[in-house]
Amino acid sequence: MVHRVAVVDRELCQSKKCGLECIKECPVNINGKECIVLDENAKALISEELCIGCGICIKVCPFDAIDIVNLSEELKKDKIHQYGVNSFRLFRIPVVKEGSVIGLVGRNGTGKTTALKILSGTLVPNLGDYASEPSWERFLSYLSGKEMKSYFQRLREGKLKISLKPQEVYKIPDVWRGDAYSLLKKMDERGELEYAVERLNLRESLYKNLEKLSGGEMQRVAVAACWLRDADVYLFDEPSSYNDVRQRLEVCRMIRELAEKGKSVLVVEHDIAFLDYVTDYVQIIYGEPGVYGIVSALYSSRTGINALIDGYLPVENVRFRERAVRFVERTLADSFVGEEELLSYKDLKKSYDGFTLDAGSGTLKRGTVVGIIGANALGKTTFLKILSGIERPDHGSVNVLVKISYKPQYLSSQFSGTVEEFFSHLGRGFADQIIQETLVKPLRMEKLLPRQVSNLSGGELQKVAIIASLSQEAEIYALDEPSAFLDVEDRFVVAKAISRIVKTYGKSAFIIDHDLQLIDSVSDMLIVFEGKPGKSGKASEPMAKEDGMNLFLGRVGLTYRRDVNTGRPRVNKPGSRLDRKQKEEGRFYYKEERQDETGKEDSF
Ligand code: ADP
Ligand code: SF4
Repeated sequence: MVHRVAVVDRELCQSKKCGLECIKECPVNINGKECIVLDENAKALISEELCIGCGICIKVCPFDAIDIVNLSEELKKDKIHQYGVNSFRLFRIPVVKEGSVIGLVGRNGTGKTTALKILSGTLVPNLGDYASEPSWERFLSYLSGKEMKSYFQRLREGKLKISLKPQEVYKIPDVWRGDAYSLLKKMDERGELEYAVERLNLRESLYKNLEKLSGGEMQRVAVAACWLRDADVYLFDEPSSYNDVRQRLEVCRMIRELAEKGKSVLVVEHDIAFLDYVTDYVQIIYGEPGVYGIVSALYSSRTGINALIDGYLPVENVRFRERAVRFVERTLADSFVGEEELLSYKDLKKSYDGFTLDAGSGTLKRGTVVGIIGANALGKTTFLKILSGIERPDHGSVNVLVKISYKPQYLSSQFSGTVEEFFSHLGRGFADQIIQETLVKPLRMEKLLPRQVSNLSGGELQKVAIIASLSQEAEIYALDEPSAFLDVEDRFVVAKAISRIVKTYGKSAFIIDHDLQLIDSVSDMLIVFEGKPGKSGKASEPMAKEDGMNLFLGRVGLTYRRDVNTGRPRVNKPGSRLDRKQKEEGRFYYKEERQDETGKEDSF
């Protein structure tokens, strides 16, 4: 027995423009029943009882507005919330545990924020009965005999205090007028303001108006505001966005301190190295973005992250991705490296506004991906702009023999027109088979094509910009922070696409990113930036990835090992036996025999 889920995207459904193909072609309608009708707002309304799941309406809808999914009948009893008729629904609720950090990870649009709203008590779950007024009493009686009953009981009785770090930190100035200090002072229920300011390096941000803070400063202020409250449960929705690796680690350490004090912590995050470092347990939320999301069983962080990479949940016996992501040790020897030099630069220097950049000298050879890592405000973006010819160095020279395609860090949504129109300006590159197979399909761009570029979210805009850049006829791709705003699945897709394009076509790339998993999986070589943020930055020469990772990890105090099952690089837990041993030996990054790609797995 299956249970049918029909979801209509109300923004995409435009019955005045489409010719009502779904209504005309639905076989149930043709047989005289009303399976699809128009509602009072002229949007398609689908009866999940009458629908036979043939999928014809999905194919004939020119705007990709309909999704029909068959789920197991058994799942029906686990429905926690449904926003309305033919809309998104969430199955099962994440658990929280005293004294533990639990990570919640999965595609955007599968209900993570919905789950956090329920856990924080701001959304009363309706158990799928969207037509009636939801009630906590009904939800509590549904939870009888279930693990989270006492949590919601205490929440309902006002005995559980929740502190939430929202995802969209840029909206904080809309609700708090004033500087960071006034906000943190108000939140400081534990008398730890000084400590948090010191740890999160907020001293220079304190008396700035919130509107004037950079993304990274705002994120750390938001983390501090959540952390400073005296709560029982702490919910952090994407705390690493905008921050560099060192700042991410500091946030991790502060989150762990809460758990060590016996608090319950839940973290939604897409950075796998961060999740690995901070969590005790992981829950994966899987499903169809915008259609449904299912919360998995609770896994230890290692098993959970391995399940995420495998695309397979062992407890549920569910495959949620066709292929596993395979991490293969990449060395220069096994990538497509020619001797041909595509770019060289010599003794590059640039200064402005009290900041000096010394980017040194280096070369880029065909078939090589050079990862660029280092703290924020050390000049990485300036360096990439100089190489791409967008900025001029004060000193030194760049010798570029081929065309560079550059994707900026800050994306513009200025284009007036649809995503499809935007891509049609790019020429033939967009239709290229590799671009279609490695990016357009797996990033589910079809649904975005009819949308206005000016209405896209940060993640959607990022995908458009990555595709636009990688589909240019160029020899070098220069991508500044491609992981920003992308969910974990899309990061896997982008990493794989960069590798495929470089290897298949013998191109080259520079990639700036703070997601260590992404950088580690795509790079052959690394440039490491060091210095004083905002004052001076110095770039290393491009060096072998292993040496670059060792240097960088040593500076931030992290050690890595290779997971025996998946071959993926893993961050050692701080103070663990391996962490201590590797630090003593000065071996921050692992060194191992190369593993071969096997079976039905994707490799970077
Ligand atoms: P995530 O946090 O995993 O990105 P969300 O919980 O924000 O997922 O959203 C899951 C789905 O629910 C999305 O398709 C979103 O559009 C939909 N959704 C969220 N809030 C509402 C709402 N108030 N009414 C209708 N749909 C909503
Ligand atoms: Fe009709 Fe359902 Fe088939 Fe769509 S999937 S055409 S609603 S029967």
